Amino acid sequence: MASPEAARSQLRCDIDLQAQGKATGFVRLPHSVHRSAYGWIPIPIVRIANGPGPRVLMVAGNHGDEWEGQIALGRLIQSITPEQIRGQLVILPSANFPASMAGQRTSPIDDGNLNRTFPGDPLGSVTEQIAWWMEHALLPGFDYSFDFHSGGNSLVYLPSTLAYRDRDPQRMEAVLGLVRAFGAPAAYIVDAPLSGGRSFTAASIRQGVTSIATEVGGGGYVTPQSMALMEGGMRRLLAHVGLWQGTAPPAPATGTRLTEVRGDDCYVYATEAGLFEPLVDIGTEVRRGQPAARIHFQHTPWREPVLLQFQRDALVLCKRGPAPCERGDCLFQLATDLPAA
Ligand SMILES: [Zn+2]
Repeated sequence: MASPEAARSQLRCDIDLQAQGKATGFVRLPHSVHRSAYGWIPIPIVRIANGPGPRVLMVAGNHGDEWEGQIALGRLIQSITPEQIRGQLVILPSANFPASMAGQRTSPIDDGNLNRTFPGDPLGSVTEQIAWWMEHALLPGFDYSFDFHSGGNSLVYLPSTLAYRDRDPQRMEAVLGLVRAFGAPAAYIVDAPLSGGRSFTAASIRQGVTSIATEVGGGGYVTPQSMALMEGGMRRLLAHVGLWQGTAPPAPATGTRLTEVRGDDCYVYATEAGLFEPLVDIGTEVRRGQPAARIHFQHTPWREPVLLQFQRDALVLCKRGPAPCERGDCLFQLATDLPAA
């Protein structure tokens, strides 16, 4: 029985997500345009179900230019059979499908950033409609949601998992269990947004679904290392929650370093437009006052570059990829070790 909010969505899923077995299909988003008056946008979706067990939703392509999760979920879809699982698995590999098709973070139709759009609007722009459907029609009823991000075109991450801080120690421990199961070299915890959080993780929490996200790689490309972590991490998550009945590749023995990103001094921003030259790479331990980057000026190459410094002792979690930068672009994100509870 659909909730009143779900019933307001204009999107229709052409497979039954509650049925047993494996099915592939599309979420149909009505989109009337010049070349197709009565057409719809086909957002791929897959269901695999086998009796009672955990109910898990896996999402990628929330940002269209983050490829690791989209590729790895495709590989999972191709190989997984109902006999290998207990419970229900629903996979939405390219959630912002127009953005994914354009290879962009945001949708080319309405410029919408899906992960800043929840809870969306059932009669709003294309991206707002996707968000509304995901929050109100898709999410309710799941035990877990996993949202597979990476740095996208503009950022490159030290492969990480990402979770919201939870004041309830039992729920926090459950989230950290998921984080450790994925097996990324680092994880970072951020303060939970208030009820108005616009991300898919915030939407999941509003709907009572335990959720983590990833930031694996980025730069608009994938590597053998980032794909191995993404594919292995997905299997380890599914095994950890008791859905996947097969063997999962072991997590790296080095474990996951638990960190947090807290405070404005965790970020280095470009103070001028120019060419960004990083002076350290991701994974580096830096000190307050240490040179972080130079910004060079093509229009006036005789001008001394601007030198930017780190504002705290920390681990470099993420850096900008492209050299051209504008004032206000994020150049680095830093993390510090999570204090013991
Ligand atoms: Zn993202």
